[in-house]
Amino acid sequence: MQRIDSVDVKGKRVLVRVDFNVPISEGTVCDDTRIRAALPTIDYLRENGARIILMSHLGRPKGEGFEEEYSLAPVARVLSRILGENVALASEHSGPEVEGLVAALGEGGVLLLENLRFDAREKKNSAEFAGELAKLADLYVDDAFGAAHRAHASVEAITHVLPSYAGFLLNLEITTLGALLEAPERPFVAILGGSKVSDKIKIIDALLERVDTLLIGGGMCFTFLKAQGLEIGKSLCEDDWQEGALQLLDKAASRGVQLLLPIDVVAAEYFGEDAPTKVFATDEMDASMMGLDIGPASAELFARAIGQAKTVFWNGPMGVFEMKPFEAGTKTVAKAVAGLKDATTVVGGGDSVAAIKVYNLEDQIGFISTGGGASMQLLEGTPLPGVEALNTN
Ligand code: AMP
Repeated sequence: MQRIDSVDVKGKRVLVRVDFNVPISEGTVCDDTRIRAALPTIDYLRENGARIILMSHLGRPKGEGFEEEYSLAPVARVLSRILGENVALASEHSGPEVEGLVAALGEGGVLLLENLRFDAREKKNSAEFAGELAKLADLYVDDAFGAAHRAHASVEAITHVLPSYAGFLLNLEITTLGALLEAPERPFVAILGGSKVSDKIKIIDALLERVDTLLIGGGMCFTFLKAQGLEIGKSLCEDDWQEGALQLLDKAASRGVQLLLPIDVVAAEYFGEDAPTKVFATDEMDASMMGLDIGPASAELFARAIGQAKTVFWNGPMGVFEMKPFEAGTKTVAKAVAGLKDATTVVGGGDSVAAIKVYNLEDQIGFISTGGGASMQLLEGTPLPGVEALNTN
């Protein structure tokens, strides 16, 4: 994979795939992290005299043309403010309007194309759409790690028609996450949570070959607990995955990996902010209750294991942390990870990253991945189409 600083970009029209899929509410960007994450590449290109054409998707529009709700106009405004210069938004991806805007770009100038997914051909990895985009530029840069697990036209097909390079963010994500797989300092502790085991089976399987300790919380822990014969009441469970859960427990045992499940849970009769809660040991759970967070003893157990770590990877909340009565487990884990002084700490995945932000711990985390799905796929060992395309280019 060649990085963008391996080629002369002066005066060149450079088409950059970024991940500006940011949360927007009432026309305002609520969190500009992803925009700022692309700045090293954008700044480099500006300083080196490139003419920069940025492109991104945002949300899930129908793919039948413009939809106000999914317009990148709020992003163009934020970017203009950050860069201190006007970033025009091209409403089309091809044709005279955008060609005119590209032609008007001076060295260091920046243009943003409207949401790529307004055109259905983007998600279909259309060579025709990629060809139209490629006409605008001399070089292509992929800096959208958050989209690297998607074989879409602006990520994959485009690499077949333009000389292609990795941006600094994509490169940093891959080297940081890759280092977890190659030579992690030990003990290596992984923490997985979130709602579904079925989403995480592959990453658990892959991590069991690399970690010393695996902590499992969140809704997914109940499939493991039930598979072990424990009462889980009305807690989230994927019965079809019980057998898979047992196999993972066996694999952990045979590889000498310490796999810790919660020993207690915070439970409620229903899912709600106002629900009265009760803590149960996992072998004493009431059949009428549902577990919505790991309990205090589990949080302490997990925090102690995290405290020993030299390398940590965390993906997925320990409970329904969006609701106050069920946030304590996630908060304790977040603080334990953030409190590590001499360790490599990596957090990936929308909800665990959100938790880190809610508790203002961003500055105390070594690396926060901008790609939840992509980071999981990379750690699972499943090739990322965006990265493969650059490697074979
Ligand atoms: P995921 O998208 O799979 O990473 O799951 C994140 C979601 O899992 C969050 O919205 C949490 O509220 C939810 N979650 C975590 N723990 C539980 C639980 N014990 N029961 C139900 N949902 C949960």
